[in-house]
Amino acid sequence: MVVTHTQKVKEQLLVPIVHTQKVVIRLQVVFILTQRVDKQQRVVKVLTQRVDKQLQMLIILTLRAIFQQLLILVHTLTQKEAEAIGFGHNVCAWIKGIYSAANHHRVEKIIAVAGGDCSNTIALSEILSSEGIEVVSFNFPHRRNRAALKAELENLARTFSVSWKRVLEEKEKLDRIRKKLKKLDRMTYQENVISGFENHFFLVSSSDFESDPNCFEQKLNVLLEDSGKRPPLEEEVRLGYLGVPSVYTDLYDRLESMGARVVFNEVQRQFSMPYGIQDIVDQYLRYTYPYSIGGRLEDIGLAVHNRHLDGLIHYTQNFCFRQIYDILMRKRFSLPILTLEGDRPGPIDGRTAIRLETFVEILKDRKRSQGKP
Ligand code: SF4
Repeated sequence: MVVTHTQKVKEQLLVPIVHTQKVVIRLQVVFILTQRVDKQQRVVKVLTQRVDKQLQMLIILTLRAIFQQLLILVHTLTQKEAEAIGFGHNVCAWIKGIYSAANHHRVEKIIAVAGGDCSNTIALSEILSSEGIEVVSFNFPHRRNRAALKAELENLARTFSVSWKRVLEEKEKLDRIRKKLKKLDRMTYQENVISGFENHFFLVSSSDFESDPNCFEQKLNVLLEDSGKRPPLEEEVRLGYLGVPSVYTDLYDRLESMGARVVFNEVQRQFSMPYGIQDIVDQYLRYTYPYSIGGRLEDIGLAVHNRHLDGLIHYTQNFCFRQIYDILMRKRFSLPILTLEGDRPGPIDGRTAIRLETFVEILKDRKRSQGKP
């Protein structure tokens, strides 16, 4: 009897222990399940982020395609409009485009860069002035004279009632973005993770930071972050693009499909003013575009060396006086140069595509015969 009772007590004591063990096991199961759910949630989060990025990319690509088509349409219409009031067929497309854009957007005041750009701008500003638009002239001194440039900048600030202190404050803000653009440029030719078009697009947009520096900086941040995770591009031919931005909507993509990539956009890079100079007058003195060709040749020469360029594309706009500089570029540089001339915005025409393809093939052969990788 005693034994039976002791056994019963033992059994009764064992019940809570077994129960506790069961509870512990259940807790462990719950813990493991929770961890699994956590992991699954993390996977879902990563996947959602990826899908988000792919969607963003898709939206950007679609917008880019729509934008290009709109651009072609708008430019065709605006050129026709300018020609209808008497602009000659042999006036460059930029001038006719600016004229029509000023009218379309009912611009009330314009800054006309008369000195350092071209005489077409002077005539254009006089036409706009005759139509009631207020014109503020700005002249880059041809001989890079510091005192003359300072006077021009101060005059511009006075015209818009902006104090010099405010000018310097704004410069400081923009310098932060310029630094990032310099990084983007380095990521194009050193780390090789930025395409020729992306480089062109962001640098050319820095001429006015898309009218909204904060928004522009955010877009730039996204590109810098995303491109940092890309594998390096491995094209066979590295190109420099010289001259004003082209009217071709697919130049960079075409070149990349041929195994070549633009790793230096000369004038676009100048727009970004990547010099890291404290003084604003010195910054605008260093800018190569508005002065004599000497500064541009020096800048291009450095890029040829530092960016290991295999060839240069010199783009000029139809009827533009800058086409004459082609002579000096060919005199100065020994590497192959292809000169392109464009007129109206749109995709590359068949003849230009063949010229590009031949040029890229010649550069590839040249590299191979020199035993370069
Ligand atoms: S493309 Fe040439 S001609 Fe036309 S506005 Fe520019 S500098 Fe002047």
